[in-house]
Amino acid sequence: MNKRGFIVIITAPSGSGKTSIYKKLFEVRNDLKFSVSYTTRKRRDGEVNGVDYYFVSRDQFMKKIERGDFLEWAEVHGELYGTERQQVEKCIGDGYICLLDVDVQGALEIMKKDLDCVSIFIEPPSLEELARRLRKRGTEDEKSIMIRINNAKNELEYKKFFDYIVLNDVLERAVKEISEIIDKEKKKRGA
Ligand code: 5GP
Repeated sequence: MNKRGFIVIITAPSGSGKTSIYKKLFEVRNDLKFSVSYTTRKRRDGEVNGVDYYFVSRDQFMKKIERGDFLEWAEVHGELYGTERQQVEKCIGDGYICLLDVDVQGALEIMKKDLDCVSIFIEPPSLEELARRLRKRGTEDEKSIMIRINNAKNELEYKKFFDYIVLNDVLERAVKEISEIIDKEKKKRGA
């Protein structure tokens, strides 16, 4: 690969099934790289440092903010999350499509910048289904689930600002739709 890549922002309310979407997307495509965000939230069972996130203390996170290391960062559900500038630049420079998993605030922040990016909002079939998925996942307590559902309600208000909205009703169908969007965007750029 020698052409410059571009950014694909994927935003989805917590529990809308985006982790499964990424896994499948990476199975079917070899032109994507995932930007591993930094976070102050606790690691969940099964998550790997440096793969899912870089798990850092609030102090370490603040130092990275001071150094200007983040392309964007935001407080989500009471924890800090940030996209590392250097990772994104390297990925694009190497000709890959850089997948960013960020919340609405992060997505809007990146869209404001002069960057080559495509934004996709993953919509859960309904808030009831979202609540059911979060409870089934079992990684959050009830209070946390309620915060996430309220957040999802707010996030849904912003879907109109995204280039594409993809309904995550059936996993395989949603993955196919996203992959087709990526193909279309690659074509536009002559890749
Ligand atoms: P979770 O804790 O469930 O992994 O993620 C919570 C939320 O934080 C999700 O909406 C996710 O997209 C968002 N998030 C993850 N990494 C980043 C980041 O680097 N920046 C921003 N703004 N949001 C992020």
